Amino acid sequence: MNFHILTLFPEMVLGGLNTSVIGRAAANGLLSIEAVNIRDYAYNKHQSVDDYPYGGGAGMLMQAEPVYLAYEAVAERIRAGKASEEGNALRVVYLSPQGETFCQGMAEELAREEDLVLLCGHYEGVDERVLEEIVTDYVSIGDYVVTGGELPAMVMVDAISRLVPGVLHNEASAESESFHDNLLEYPQYSRPEEWHGKRVPQVLLSGHHANIEKWRREQSILRTRERRPDLLKKSGLTEKEKAWLEENWPRTRDGQMEK
Ligand code: SAM
Repeated sequence: MNFHILTLFPEMVLGGLNTSVIGRAAANGLLSIEAVNIRDYAYNKHQSVDDYPYGGGAGMLMQAEPVYLAYEAVAERIRAGKASEEGNALRVVYLSPQGETFCQGMAEELAREEDLVLLCGHYEGVDERVLEEIVTDYVSIGDYVVTGGELPAMVMVDAISRLVPGVLHNEASAESESFHDNLLEYPQYSRPEEWHGKRVPQVLLSGHHANIEKWRREQSILRTRERRPDLLKKSGLTEKEKAWLEENWPRTRDGQMEK
């Protein structure tokens, strides 16, 4: 999978993404991550890429033309690498607090793309006209505002990359992790067997794989009920599991189950 990040701070995104699991996957050719400096496409001699917003107001705005030229250069290269009209239209994500909130399902969907362009805003954002022309998806990492789109883009690249086959050495680990099937992951333990007087649950030491799987599934359900009850509605529990949860979940003070 190929990520193309349009940014004013390429060193920031490459520094963060060229380390650890994602950096290793890129070095091994499973991913490619390029950061395109929008400033290289500034069309004035001072290489400025921002200007005052019409109508006044605080801060500066990224101008349309450098963003458009940077996008065009990337899109042109991607098109040149493809035979004829092969493949779907290029997905271009604008990182924005006004976008749809990023989630595991979106990461799974975007991991199926061959190329993904991520546009990072800065200052007060980007001239609306270029967004209208090039953006296919508006994505937010949460209901708060950060200084630029670089950290949000890094979050997206990391979450998507670990779903690309081969990036995680243990493929199964992405499948048992939180948010897969809309359940949170079960609690995990490593050596020693006893720490600060707390023992590892006996079932995990039993070597009985079926019992361990059953325990883990139950713990996932209980943990999701406790910490993210909103997810449970979408988690596809069987009728048997729902009945089990009903029995095993503590009742509220008035004796009623919370739904
Ligand atoms: N004035 C903009 C608004 O109110 O919608 C916010 C601009 S913000 C200071 C600068 C840039 O950071 C944005 O253009 C966007 O690329 C990025 N950004 C800020 N918060 C974000 C979030 N929650 N998710 C994704 N990107 C974000």
